[in-house]
Amino acid sequence: MGLYDKFARLANDREQFQTSGLNPFGTCIDEVYSATQGRIGDQKIVLAGTNNYLGLTFDAQAIAAGQAALAALGTGTTGSRMANGSYGSHLTLERELAEFFDRPSAIVFSTGYTANLGVISTLAGPGAVVLIDADSHASIYDACALGGAEIIRFRHNDAADLERRMLRLGERAREAIIIVEGIYSMLGDVAPLVEIVDIKRRLGGYLLVDEAHSFGVMGEHGRGLAEALGVEQDVDIVLGTFSKSLASIGGFAVGGKGMDVLRYSSRPYIFTASPSPSSIASVRTALQKIALHPELREKLWSNAHRLYHGLAELGYTLGPRISPVVPVMIGSKEEGLRFWRELIAHGVYVNLVLPPAAPAGVTLLRCSVNAAHSDEEIDTIVRAFAALKK
Ligand code: PMP
Repeated sequence: MGLYDKFARLANDREQFQTSGLNPFGTCIDEVYSATQGRIGDQKIVLAGTNNYLGLTFDAQAIAAGQAALAALGTGTTGSRMANGSYGSHLTLERELAEFFDRPSAIVFSTGYTANLGVISTLAGPGAVVLIDADSHASIYDACALGGAEIIRFRHNDAADLERRMLRLGERAREAIIIVEGIYSMLGDVAPLVEIVDIKRRLGGYLLVDEAHSFGVMGEHGRGLAEALGVEQDVDIVLGTFSKSLASIGGFAVGGKGMDVLRYSSRPYIFTASPSPSSIASVRTALQKIALHPELREKLWSNAHRLYHGLAELGYTLGPRISPVVPVMIGSKEEGLRFWRELIAHGVYVNLVLPPAAPAGVTLLRCSVNAAHSDEEIDTIVRAFAALKK
């Protein structure tokens, strides 16, 4: 048997997407002009399928900070946090993140994926039990598998189902680790954190919340869903990424003092190179922007409302709530692919998401807005969707 034979079906499945026209998986965006504009082939496009929620990828101060760090500290650390990869700026950013969340500790990781892997796999080792939302991001699933804990999935956003499963655990529930996300990246819905916190108060356990898509987006100060719902004190660890609102690359965990022990026990922290100094510098600037410019969040939400209402008026079936992620449900994957290509021809890039990446077996066109989109750009997206109906 050949090395790749077991992938034959997957390869065949994917080939049908490549026979004619653009391939939606791994699309090359040939040029990026701004947080909202780019080019694919000959087509200028509005970028409506990113995670750049606050539109900070081209922030002049973040770019200048990154350039200064490149010149001062070099292109990369060439080592892990534990060895030669902890620079002063990594530690400063950790202090700033801890302050931002008003928590004792923060740890910087190389990506959001690695933050989840590093924290969850280390805490959820053999003998532990984790309860995770069925629609959890791959990094949460992978982290649980790496750790070796017993994994219990509960129905997506179903606190009653979580409670039933916690009750079945009896005394073990006291030490169980519950993991949910803030905003879910495909449907734009949010975890029922108030209900989950209530379960935790009654039955015990620890609560980890991955605020990857809600950090910078929700809450009075931009700290995420837990802040928006007033339950931050009940969250043991907040997990996050630099690759969305912070417009760079890297990840973080914020929690209590005891969390620092992960620096000596977490393999995904110890055995991978740390984020480059330029990334750290741009993240520090972006974090200040989140703190000092709540109007970015206001513009983001106003854009989210404009797009949601525009698409709803056209009769599209959308996600369950207004959110910076606006999923448009499509009947079949063939139709999804056709629509995706037509949208590009109309100058709009969104994400085509097929099952199993899309939950509940649906095909969706995942649109996302950011704070840098102008009203005119949002209207361009709506007009492109209107053209599909003709
Ligand atoms: N958690 C969630 C919920 C995510 O959606 C993602 C990325 N899409 C990650 C973690 C991983 O983040 P990163 O891309 O920084 O590795």
